Amino acid sequence: MLRSKLLSLFFPRVCAVCEKYIGEQAGVLCEECLSALPRTEQAENRQNSTEMAVLGQPHQIAVATKTMHLDKGAAFLFFDKGHPIRDMIHRMKYADQPEIGFQLGRQAAIEMQYADFFDEIDLIIPMPLHPKRLRERGYNQSEYIARGISAITGIPVDTTHVTRVRNTPKQALQRGEERKINVADAFAVNHPEQLYYKHILIVDDLITTGETMRSCMRAMKVFRGAKFSVFALCKAR
Ligand SMILES: [Zn+2]
Repeated sequence: MLRSKLLSLFFPRVCAVCEKYIGEQAGVLCEECLSALPRTEQAENRQNSTEMAVLGQPHQIAVATKTMHLDKGAAFLFFDKGHPIRDMIHRMKYADQPEIGFQLGRQAAIEMQYADFFDEIDLIIPMPLHPKRLRERGYNQSEYIARGISAITGIPVDTTHVTRVRNTPKQALQRGEERKINVADAFAVNHPEQLYYKHILIVDDLITTGETMRSCMRAMKVFRGAKFSVFALCKAR
C-alpha cells in the first residue's frame, strides 16, 4: 500500500471517527472507536433488515425471492444519522480517504468469517460508479470495501462485468418512489456467459431503500444459474 504509506508521511495518523492521534498502528480507527462501532450482527441471521430491504416491501418478498435468487445478505454496521460514523462514511466517499473503506471491509471480513458468511462465494462485484462520477471522485469506495474483504477471504474482486450506464443524482436519501425511477436500468453487463453458475457477492457502501441493489440484480439476471449474496458496509436504520 504505497499510497497509504505516502499519505501517512504528509498527514498525521488520526482516528477516522474521533480524530485522536493513533500513531503508526494498523487500521484507521482507534481501539475505542473500533469496539464502539454499531455492529448489526446480521452475518448469521437470515431475514435480517438488509435482506428485507434488498427484497423490497413484505408483500413483494414472495415474488422477489422467485426472481432475485438472493442467497443471503448482511450489513456490517448500522448507519444512524446522528452517529459519528456518518462523518467517517462521508470522508470515505467524498474526502479522498478510500482507505477507510479498505480497512472496514477487512474488519467486517474478519468478524463475519466466523459465521461462514463468505463460504462458497466465487467472486465479489463492487457496486459500480458511473464513469463520470468515478473520474470526479478518483476511486470507487465500494471497490475499496470489496478489496478489504478480499484481502482476508482471498475471494477475487471483479470490476469488469457490471457497469453503470446512467448517472443518478447525488442525494443520498431520497424517497423510495423517486429513487426507483432514478436507478431503473442504470446498469449494464458485459460477457454474462463468463459468470454463469457463479455465486456472486455484490458489495455496496450503504443500503437505504435497497432499490439500487435491486436494479443492479435485475441487470445481473442474465448471469444464468448465478446465485447472489449482498454485503453492505452500512444499513440505514
Ligand atoms: Zn477514535
